[in-house]
Amino acid sequence: PFHKPSSHYKVVAEGAKRVGAQCEKAHLAINTEARDGRPACQVAGFCMQGCRIGAKWSTMYTEIPKAEATGNVEVRPESMVLRIEHDANGKVSGVLYADGNGNQHLQKARVVAVAGNSIESPRMLLNSASNMFPNGLANSSGQVGQNYMTHTTGGSYAEFEKPVHMYKSTVVPGIVTEYQNNDPTRGHLAGYELEILHLGLPFMSAFMNPGKSGWGRELAASLENYDHMAGFWICGEDMAVESNNITLHPTEKDQYGLPVPVVYKTDHINDTRMRNHAYARSKELFESVGAYKVTDLPPYPASHNMGTNRMSEHARDGVVNRWGQSHDIDNLFVSDGSQFTSSGTENPTLTIVALAIRQ
Ligand code: SF4
Repeated sequence: PFHKPSSHYKVVAEGAKRVGAQCEKAHLAINTEARDGRPACQVAGFCMQGCRIGAKWSTMYTEIPKAEATGNVEVRPESMVLRIEHDANGKVSGVLYADGNGNQHLQKARVVAVAGNSIESPRMLLNSASNMFPNGLANSSGQVGQNYMTHTTGGSYAEFEKPVHMYKSTVVPGIVTEYQNNDPTRGHLAGYELEILHLGLPFMSAFMNPGKSGWGRELAASLENYDHMAGFWICGEDMAVESNNITLHPTEKDQYGLPVPVVYKTDHINDTRMRNHAYARSKELFESVGAYKVTDLPPYPASHNMGTNRMSEHARDGVVNRWGQSHDIDNLFVSDGSQFTSSGTENPTLTIVALAIRQ
């Protein structure tokens, strides 16, 4: 069953109704009743820091222990892949890695599936360049590392005369879905969601008005009102831009002697337009239910990582096919969010999991 609506959800849902926008309860992978050996959520909030009682789904304590129990899976923690090896026919044949003590091992393999997501997966493929594949593995298209996407983000936090206690809730109790569709009359392409989200106090103090009145009375007054706040995280489709990419640093190396990744990402003009639309709609919604102050939070420095080994019909346009199998080497797979061709408006984890299960 769904979670019971929190006061944070109720405030937003009422505001959405008053401005004619659609608000839905979020589908959360959090138990509302004991299930699968894990307890029901105690609604203590702050799930972003992890769930101590295990009510929230996580591969760490759900799928991985079950997989280990089959005897078919072995986790070798604290290991770092140094390179993926291939044979004279151009098929991958194993993985050279360093264990937690720095000792190197070669694990032979019939199939290799990389799952380091948008930064480490392309880095691994690029760092595995050889005489046969001088531009890195699976990179005949030149697309490995290209089209790095996050999400268009930002935040909007409102203060009210009466308490909301937004933290007495699962972390995203609902979503304003009104602006998910592609409607260029809004002044931007693609869509976004307003995810109801209580940030923790340290996050809030870091993100409220940095560079403006990031210190002092105004910030302190807002933080004192923490229990009188309601707010959103903006999550919108980020355009795939080829020049936003992951490349290898020409000289800097990590402790294993591998070139470190260089992450290049700039806003598309569409991001700015989308964010401004979201700020305006959020303000309108919160003021409709009596907010006396609404603060726009800037985009966070990091968000969901997607793209960089994109899926494509034809080998010339991308890195993997519809099954996550690399176009160039048929026993090499990509099993993570780097396969994404676009970022959508939605958090990517469940799509990543679905793609992996399908693979
Ligand atoms: S509110 Fe979040 S962290 Fe707390 S029990 Fe529920 S899922 Fe776990």
